[in-house]
Amino acid sequence: MAGKAYPWVLVQSVPWQSGATYTRGLHEGLPLLSYGCAPRHLLATYRQLRAMGLRPNGHDPVAVLYVRHNLSKKVSFASLYLIAKAAPVRPMTPAKWTAIAKANLGRRICPECGHDRGYIVPRWDGRKCCVPCFDTACATEMQEAA
Ligand SMILES: [Zn+2]
Repeated sequence: MAGKAYPWVLVQSVPWQSGATYTRGLHEGLPLLSYGCAPRHLLATYRQLRAMGLRPNGHDPVAVLYVRHNLSKKVSFASLYLIAKAAPVRPMTPAKWTAIAKANLGRRICPECGHDRGYIVPRWDGRKCCVPCFDTACATEMQEAA
């Protein structure tokens, strides 16, 4: 491939600092930054915000970070948020815990036998059932085949 995929571009203004700065062009309308050139104290990915106990607070990402994996030659993109505009993560309330417990209970109940199996019921070739149900179904199929 001739030339760089993401050449340096001087941008006159960016949301995270005043004055011009170098970026790697635009990606979906947002400034593109490469690994190492994004200011760590100003911008963070969603997971980095979470690790700091923060959330984007409804704000859209202000930049995109790209990293290239040398072995597979794949390029990954990550949205970057302003740390200054982030808000603390909302604490879990008893109602939220109840809602999560309810949702997880629904996933643990086998639709075929109706038992709470203590694990999330897996899907086998589009069929959703627990391991004992799957085993009995397999045994029946084997008997029918014999
Ligand atoms: Zn079952």
